[in-house]
Amino acid sequence: MISEKIPVAGPWITQKEIDYVADAAANGWYENSTEYIQRFEAAFTQYMGVKHAVSLPSCTSAIHLSLLALGIGAGDEVIVPDITWIATAAPITYVGATPVFADIDEKTWCISPESLRECITPKTRAVIPVDLYGNMPCMDEIEKIARNFKLAIIEDAAEAIGSEYKGRKAGSFGDTGVFSFHGSKTMTTGEGGMLLTDNSELYNRCLLLRDHGRQAAGKMFWNLEIAYKYKMSSMQAALGLAQLERINELAEKKRMIFQWYKGELEGHPGITLNYESACTRNTYWMVTAIIDAELGLDKIHLLEQMNEKQVAGRPFFYPLSMLPAYCFSEEARQAQKRNIVSYKISPYGINLPSGFNMDRDKVRYVCDSLISILNL
Ligand SMILES: *Cc1c(COP(=O)(O)O)cnc(C)c1O
Repeated sequence: MISEKIPVAGPWITQKEIDYVADAAANGWYENSTEYIQRFEAAFTQYMGVKHAVSLPSCTSAIHLSLLALGIGAGDEVIVPDITWIATAAPITYVGATPVFADIDEKTWCISPESLRECITPKTRAVIPVDLYGNMPCMDEIEKIARNFKLAIIEDAAEAIGSEYKGRKAGSFGDTGVFSFHGSKTMTTGEGGMLLTDNSELYNRCLLLRDHGRQAAGKMFWNLEIAYKYKMSSMQAALGLAQLERINELAEKKRMIFQWYKGELEGHPGITLNYESACTRNTYWMVTAIIDAELGLDKIHLLEQMNEKQVAGRPFFYPLSMLPAYCFSEEARQAQKRNIVSYKISPYGINLPSGFNMDRDKVRYVCDSLISILNL
């Protein structure tokens, strides 16, 4: 038995991050008060190859702003995958629209294009594909469907910075792409988010909506409408800039951690790990294992037994349509019947420790624990 519990997630902070944040805390005021914000946003647009970036307090606020800027509201429907963190869907309700839950693909665990098509009604205005655990859905299909049905796309790339689909970066698809820099994510600012877009109109609308409805160059204290206050601080931006300057190193380490797990678990037929198709580069935010149902151990019991061996984990997301927050709505009831893959996979999936403090020995310990619990 090991002495300290192995955590499920956590960042990789070096002296560079500490220096940047200290500099922002010491000097990021007066005429320098927006310097780190501007540098962070500029570095982000350059890395992603998009025109505009808006730094925000969270990814949740980035999705909220995206919906507002697209003019989505009461009477509209927005399609999300049933398997994701609730932050993907909650902002749909904030704007008065209705979330519709599509099934996921059995291999990628991301939104299934077939299910997306089936969920479209005359009220559908947008789809929010999610790059789950660092993987990406079949973007060609999703873009084609969106074009045919005139749907906006908000790409939720919160879990996939550094991932690619056919050489294009996660977060650069769609009318907007959004990121989270929560402490558990691949790159962090403590709490934070980013909204990306190539569309200057959407960009300008977001700038107005995130700053109490005032124009950057307009008359002072002259608010054009009632809006929101969604901003990131210089200290957070400084941390983000340092992390972004190390993004290749961060993504490579995530891929390395996954390779270690794969090496240990590959020969075991009862375990399926994250998928990487030929057209995708997956940055494996969370190494995830789906355990064959025949082994007779659901995710909650498995996590309990892992916990006894000092290994933290997380359950695979529950289908949103199953949660008390949604389960009684008409859309959720339909999803419960329709989304066979989501309901089949979710009970048997766990996220394995994937923090940046993982090394080969820890991965071996986690895998030995898992294999002994499963009697493989
Ligand atoms: C983490 C996460 C979010 C929310 O990010 P916050 O910064 O906490 O608002 C949204 N979508 C997905 C898929 C996430 O994993």
